[in-house]
Amino acid sequence: MIDLRSDTVTKPTDEMRQAMATAEVGDDVWGDDPTVNRLEQVAAEWLGKEAALFVASGTMGNQVAVMTHCSPGDEVFVEGEAHVYWYEVGGIARLAGAQPRPILTPDGLLTPDLVQASLREENIHYPVPRLLCIENTHNRAGGKVLPLPAYKAVVDKAHERGLKVHLDGARLANAAVAQGISPREAAAGADSVMCCLSKGLCAPVGSVLAGSREFIATARRNRKVLGGGMRQAGILAAAGLIAIERMVERLREDHALAQAIAAALHDVPHVTCDPNKVETNMVQVDLDRPASPVLDALAREGLLCGASGPTRIRLVTHRDASGTRPEEVARAFRAALAG
Ligand SMILES: *Cc1c(COP(=O)(O)O)cnc(C)c1O
Repeated sequence: MIDLRSDTVTKPTDEMRQAMATAEVGDDVWGDDPTVNRLEQVAAEWLGKEAALFVASGTMGNQVAVMTHCSPGDEVFVEGEAHVYWYEVGGIARLAGAQPRPILTPDGLLTPDLVQASLREENIHYPVPRLLCIENTHNRAGGKVLPLPAYKAVVDKAHERGLKVHLDGARLANAAVAQGISPREAAAGADSVMCCLSKGLCAPVGSVLAGSREFIATARRNRKVLGGGMRQAGILAAAGLIAIERMVERLREDHALAQAIAAALHDVPHVTCDPNKVETNMVQVDLDRPASPVLDALAREGLLCGASGPTRIRLVTHRDASGTRPEEVARAFRAALAG
């Protein structure tokens, strides 16, 4: 089986398992776990912020960030297909008590003009505009990168209008590698940034949230109320350290494989797949028919992938599928779509 459903399916590397087995641990709720403390220091440095917090998942990191930035009733601006809005179980409303305000874009990419146009003049009727969430790379847009100049312009526009900025960088490392910049450059200016260690970076569990010292102190309380105060979490943090220190550069290989798969799918009948649209580790495949039965047929051909729309299939490349042959993916699609 070739599993291209998501980069979350990656298993911890042998080096990670070794580090986990021998990790020094303590009770992290008491601040006593040396490995978690080291991960938080390394992550803060890596993301260019004063402090960082180890959280159980990307969702927890995003939601803790929104809770920390916002008071109930505040307005949170999100790109219309952002993960924090689509896939986090209504957390903005139910956990922070804040009101999401989607900004519709044609391609997932926020612009300063779109942010400007969605902001309103001060008025007693309106919620207090508080936070802008930016997603990079953009999941539902197919792993698209918001390029650094555009990212900076959006951050500046938000700050100019008094908003805080949270960067959902679940795949920030992919965005950085694709642009040939460091993750800290890719997160510059954001008031907070979340990055998943458990996707292409191969850690078994966990994400990091970074920001100012004061922000992280409050975020730590908000993590606790969500049940995210973990004890000997150094077992997990040990793998997270390897994710940050050793697994970033190899994301290039995932990006190259995604390109090659898109090129191989380009002339498969009944499929629209544009290699020029592949920017990181995701390939979007549009079909001339419903995706769901095709997914079943692909599974029978030995290829697992997911749907990202009624007629759209998404393939995600990652370390554990690095031996995938693009022509084998194309063969599976031809067979699944035959007849
Ligand atoms: C995966 C993802 C998350 C959530 O991460 P989990 O660890 O699955 O909770 C948040 N934002 C984006 C853009 C993602 O792709």
